[in-house]
Amino acid sequence: MKRQVPLKRVRNIGIMAHIDAGKTTVTERILYFTGVSHKIGEVHDGEATMDWMEQERERGITITSAATTCFWKDNKINIIDTPGHVDFTVEVERSLRVLDGAIGLFCAVAGVEPQSETVWRQAEKYDVPVIAFVNKMDRAGADFYRVLESMKKQLHANPVPIIIPIIEDELLVGVIDLVYNVAHMYDDATGEKRTDLPIPEAYQAERDKWFKLLVEKVSEVDDRLMEKFCEGEEITTEELMDGIRRATLARTITPTLCGTAFKNKGVKRLLDAVVDFLPAPDDLPPIIGTNAKDEEIVRKPSDESHLAALAFKVVADKHMGKLIYFRVYSGTMKSGSYVLNSSKGNKQRIGRLLQMHANKQEPRDAIFCGDIGVAIGLSDTVTGDSLCDIAHPITLEAIEFPSPVISVSIKPETKSDSDKLGTGLGRLAEEDPTFIVSSGEVDNETIISGMGELHLEIIVDRLKREFGVQANVGRPEVAYRETITKDFEMVHRYSKQSGGKGDFAHIEFKIEPNPPGVGFEFENKIVGGAIPREYIPAVEKGIVDAMKKGVFAEYPIVDIKITLHDGSYHDVDSSERAFRICASQAFKHAFMRCKPQLLEPVMSVHVTTPAEFAGPINGNLNGKRGRITGMDTLVSGNIIKSMVPLAEMFGYATEIRTISSGRAAFSMQFEHYEAVPNSLAEEIVEERKKQVKK
Ligand code: GDP
Repeated sequence: MKRQVPLKRVRNIGIMAHIDAGKTTVTERILYFTGVSHKIGEVHDGEATMDWMEQERERGITITSAATTCFWKDNKINIIDTPGHVDFTVEVERSLRVLDGAIGLFCAVAGVEPQSETVWRQAEKYDVPVIAFVNKMDRAGADFYRVLESMKKQLHANPVPIIIPIIEDELLVGVIDLVYNVAHMYDDATGEKRTDLPIPEAYQAERDKWFKLLVEKVSEVDDRLMEKFCEGEEITTEELMDGIRRATLARTITPTLCGTAFKNKGVKRLLDAVVDFLPAPDDLPPIIGTNAKDEEIVRKPSDESHLAALAFKVVADKHMGKLIYFRVYSGTMKSGSYVLNSSKGNKQRIGRLLQMHANKQEPRDAIFCGDIGVAIGLSDTVTGDSLCDIAHPITLEAIEFPSPVISVSIKPETKSDSDKLGTGLGRLAEEDPTFIVSSGEVDNETIISGMGELHLEIIVDRLKREFGVQANVGRPEVAYRETITKDFEMVHRYSKQSGGKGDFAHIEFKIEPNPPGVGFEFENKIVGGAIPREYIPAVEKGIVDAMKKGVFAEYPIVDIKITLHDGSYHDVDSSERAFRICASQAFKHAFMRCKPQLLEPVMSVHVTTPAEFAGPINGNLNGKRGRITGMDTLVSGNIIKSMVPLAEMFGYATEIRTISSGRAAFSMQFEHYEAVPNSLAEEIVEERKKQVKK
């Protein structure tokens, strides 16, 4: 049981990109050059090693994060695959939580696209140091410098080239490496061979200009370097590298490279930059958690320290069972040992431990500090749980997941499908905290809810393929919510006499709206035993039951506060059951007296379009009850930013294609819940009543 490499030589990285920027291709090339795969798997051949789920191959996009380990010049690089589609931003978030650094990947033609922007903001939120790679430099219309400009303008980033392209006849024939002051000329179309030459005369001025910028930017974190530069002293490569590294870790610059993964150019240089400039686990502040008394504790990254790990991903594997991906922040996770799941408060035995490569697994005795591994056999652990030393409990900050905004009903075709559906949904829900299963109103149908149309499509697809379930799927529906807008004082008695022992309960409470997003609160202000203490939880339960299926239109009720302050009971006839029924009834009556309101999910929608279609697209969004919140001008067109209710966005992909002759693209993400206008709310409630009656 030994570390494979010292902690300083571990890199945990992710690749963040807009869909189609080339993330899969870059990852493939990295695996190829680091010797993990023996042949290059092209995305369009459906051979890509990382895209191991079948439908990902067919769709050509990467959906779930799979971790893979490779080695480059005696460094261990764990790559966490992050998805590029906006319906899966939560996957990106959870990956960013366990990464130490990232590669921001951009297409040299398209530049910064809406999804790159979303992901960039997420990386900012987690303070992840980033290096950038401008890919697809072989494509017609590729422009490295334009991408730099759009990174500055749209992302407010500080991109600083460390290599610049040499283009001849619109072809990328080589690059100038500013750090090593050398030109790499590619000898053949495959990019496998290159010759290193002095800087060509024609490029000397260009090189000097960008080198000056590099030194200036780095000097912002290193005065010594600036002095040397101003006084004309020679700056050594080591000094420059050290400065770039420090500026990257401080997030004051984004070292930027370019190349074409497809033609194998620039990928090895990118690997060097990952090792040279992205942080090792101990370059970052130590992890903070809380102990059983809710006091803050700090854990330094070292193998000898007490174990603290975070489960960041659960995958139901057909053959191996439940795989828990985790990151060790301190200490060592040993196979066969017992650990505490401090989020659940129970002891669990670590069975087998694995290190994942894209296409194979390697058994390991231990996963050391700073590393990422997979545990098998932790039945009771879900995404976001902390695993730690039993004698030294620590709970790390849990991962936050947004609530689902869209639902479809799903009906199994036969009895046997029905059995398989239950198992399949259970497994998938375990993997994915943003996917929720509930029972519907009609014929006991099953409702699945998620983050977007594509999210649910993929789930239905997986049910078919992995669990053999044939099912009919309903139309996607918006996940509306209900809430109230004013207070009410409620007094309610429940009493029933049917011979023998009767039922009696009496409660008095205040019901009032809570601010949006605060959720449900229940406060008990009963004094002097007006209601015995053992019945209080039954009152709360009765209310929670009633809230699950709203009163107004049977959508879940949110953001309400109840203060229970009085009531009475009967020695013989009162029971938990009676108080529970009384509370449910009381809540329903009270709710309707508080001006109930229907809430709908509002999405942040970004459309990228050539300028000529901006007008019609704006008009169309306005017609969807949309609010335009901003417009950025790009070299290639505009980005229109807006807020639009989800209910208006079904089928938007087809609509926007028609409006723009296929030239505009959009991304959409849940923003917040907002009140539905009254006239529309009435229609929705009517429609819902018809559905429920059916
Ligand atoms: P992802 O969606 O970000 O994972 O992107 P992929 O790696 O699937 O790439 C999307 C498409 O771009 C595929 O057809 C790739 O073959 C192509 N592609 C990727 N890298 C390059 C590149 O450097 N040059 C060119 N011309 N095409 C590329």
